[in-house]
Amino acid sequence: MLRPVKLAALRVLRGSGIFSLVTNSRWRQQRLLILCYHGTSLEDEHLWRPMLYIDPQKLEQRLESLKKGHFSVLPLGEALQRLRAGTLPPRSVALTFDDGFFDFFRQAYPLLKGYGFPVTVYQTTYYTSVERPLFNLICSYMLWMRRGEVIADGEGVGLQGPLDLRTDSGRSEVMRGLLEISERENRTGLEKDEVAAQLARVLKIDYDTLRAKRILQLMNGRELQEIARNGVDVQLHTHRHRTPEDEALFRREIQDNRSRIHELTATQPVHFCYPSGVYRPAFLPWLRKEHVVSATTCDAGLAARQSESLLLPRFIDNQNRTQIEFESWVTGVGDLLALKRKAAQHYVPGRS
Ligand SMILES: [Zn+2]
Repeated sequence: MLRPVKLAALRVLRGSGIFSLVTNSRWRQQRLLILCYHGTSLEDEHLWRPMLYIDPQKLEQRLESLKKGHFSVLPLGEALQRLRAGTLPPRSVALTFDDGFFDFFRQAYPLLKGYGFPVTVYQTTYYTSVERPLFNLICSYMLWMRRGEVIADGEGVGLQGPLDLRTDSGRSEVMRGLLEISERENRTGLEKDEVAAQLARVLKIDYDTLRAKRILQLMNGRELQEIARNGVDVQLHTHRHRTPEDEALFRREIQDNRSRIHELTATQPVHFCYPSGVYRPAFLPWLRKEHVVSATTCDAGLAARQSESLLLPRFIDNQNRTQIEFESWVTGVGDLLALKRKAAQHYVPGRS
């Protein structure tokens, strides 16, 4: 969230007509804002991870302001072609959702459909067939549910001593312990889910109820087929939400991701989003070999004609962003003011 002095400055700029001046400028017309979302809360996830989640009311407010501001919300592929060709309509925006959580299907998709806005989902696919919550996210969420408590004994999940859940750092330490054990033992998704169920027992949380709500789960095959049939553009985000530094393994992630998406949607995805926004120069030629035509990062900015296609900036919107901050970015003012450093966009995601 921006500091009060920055917010006050933005209010002055909006009040003096600078926002509308920039939004209607030729400079803005030659640029594309790619908006990035992750989860849309089913319950209180935005209170747990406000950088990762947005509540549905706030998302609706954003969509309403795109409509009221006469923004041109374009399908990602078309927007990128027109960016290159110099034929973008005024105030162009593309909407992207990373990971492909079930909450996209339940919460965001009906809203987007109501507004008639095209959308791209960057789908990570491993958990689309496992149908279990993402292990590190569900564990972190359950520990947060018991914030303020000290659990006498962590032995039920292989950890020694009491589990101190009173602070962020205490909960992170427990999380680190759980991840270390699962990496060391090279557990599969289903085995990790058993550990999550054990953790729920230790924390006295009804895991079956949580699982039935589909909280922190990805969309399954049926849901992906349905959204794709209804025009949602499903694109690449690696199979296991990871970018190995070995070429063969990296490309395998793209290939597995692509074939699972193809199997479900009968499309050939060519747009990619770096998991966790992590990219290295070596990845670019590997992506080209896989015929990937665009790749988005989590770096803040508007995309311009000269932007590298495999390193396109986006603006990450979430529960922590104020409405005026959002407006500053869709108009282009945020980019001009170089609020980039302030718009810290580090996102620690769920790895499978
Ligand atoms: Zn992701």
